[in-house]
Amino acid sequence: MHHVLRTTVLYLLLAPGAFAQERPSLSPAARAYVEIDAPVIALTHARLVDGTGAPVRENQTIVIDGTRIAAVGAGGQVAIPPGARVIDLTGHTVTPGFVGLHEHTYFSATTRTTQMAVSGPLLYLGNGVTTMRTAGSQFPYEELNMKRAVERGDLPGPRMHITGPYLNGAGSGGRSRGLATPDEARRVVAYWGEEGATWLKFSGSITRDVMRAAIDEAHKHGMRATGHLCSVTFSEAAALGIDALEHGFITNSAYVPGKQPDVCPGDNMRIQADVDVKSPAVQASIRELAAKGVALTSTLAVYETFVPERAKLNPRAMEMLAPDTRREVEETHATIARGGLVVPVRLIRKMMQWEYDFVQAGGLLGAGVDPWGTGMLPGFGDLRNYELLVEAGFAPPQAFRIMSLNGAKILGEDRLTGSVEPGKRADLVVIRGDPVSTPADVYNVVTVFKDGYGYSTERLLDGARGLVGIR
Ligand SMILES: [Zn+2]
Repeated sequence: MHHVLRTTVLYLLLAPGAFAQERPSLSPAARAYVEIDAPVIALTHARLVDGTGAPVRENQTIVIDGTRIAAVGAGGQVAIPPGARVIDLTGHTVTPGFVGLHEHTYFSATTRTTQMAVSGPLLYLGNGVTTMRTAGSQFPYEELNMKRAVERGDLPGPRMHITGPYLNGAGSGGRSRGLATPDEARRVVAYWGEEGATWLKFSGSITRDVMRAAIDEAHKHGMRATGHLCSVTFSEAAALGIDALEHGFITNSAYVPGKQPDVCPGDNMRIQADVDVKSPAVQASIRELAAKGVALTSTLAVYETFVPERAKLNPRAMEMLAPDTRREVEETHATIARGGLVVPVRLIRKMMQWEYDFVQAGGLLGAGVDPWGTGMLPGFGDLRNYELLVEAGFAPPQAFRIMSLNGAKILGEDRLTGSVEPGKRADLVVIRGDPVSTPADVYNVVTVFKDGYGYSTERLLDGARGLVGIR
């Protein structure tokens, strides 16, 4: 019996077409964004960054069969199946589809916050994000319905893990859910788990006792928890069993002198700028988080938009904004340039150092965009993160790993996605040029494969043009 089982497993692993799965159906409207549409596809002569952190390989052939990657190897050593659609990628780089971890689907400009119900999925996918997790929702039902529209094949977009509303401390206003007691936390978390959230997101002023109950309830429902923390330190949250933390160094209030339990110290962004990342206390906290297996999401791109010396508006991204929203973003950008509400340049360098040290200590780092009205947009910010991770000191294959396989691990999907390996989902990014030697080439995404369909970036961006701020 044991022997028979093993033979069967071997057959499944080795048989031609073993990975083939029929591609999901797409509505005619969604199919209009697809430029490479064939059941078997061979990408040839590609430069490959496979997402595992392994060195770049030149002249690779990647065979896609249905929704899966069937073969990867040097040109001439991988058989191209008869009837395959062959795409010559000379001069192009292939990476895994990106796994983005702080991918909001709303956009907050100065006067209003709107759901990117159409533009968000198109912009994430068009810039290479094939799997994403949101990190706090302002319109949780719109987000849930958007995810379902993508799953039905009515709207092109990434696979989504979604959070419910932001979970904050008692008395919180706006669209967040203020939680006063552990019982209340359990009830709200269980509700959102049943509604379809697979993660939850804490923010600002939540207290430890409420957080403890929420995390415990989340884990009972197979959900995971992350947070943009302030009242609770990273170390305290790790002890409560939190799965991930957002933003890193800048939001760890443990580094603020005189921090009171369960209280968010005001002005921590200013104070943090003068904390020494290389001090024994900070380094010990980095090692503690890494050892506890708490994952971290890097969001350098959005913080850079608050740094006057460095903030730049990407003209291609600005075209995606509705005219009124674009005016507000440009005004905010100008205010920051004049010195209002800024992140000091030395602070963003400390954030980079902290993240680099976290990875050296064995920590699991992912990345996400955190779209914001300072001019950071879905997808475009994920690509900017690549340049910033390289600037932080990561070798290009490591930076891509942070954006793909690490994200997949954090989501528990690394068996299915996150690297270019046989048997994994055919989720791939095709980039014109060589982002390994020229990081800015990362913006030249031309085609994004998801589930074996090759979507045209040009068409996806055209579909979102002028819509951010409207829908
Ligand atoms: Zn956020």
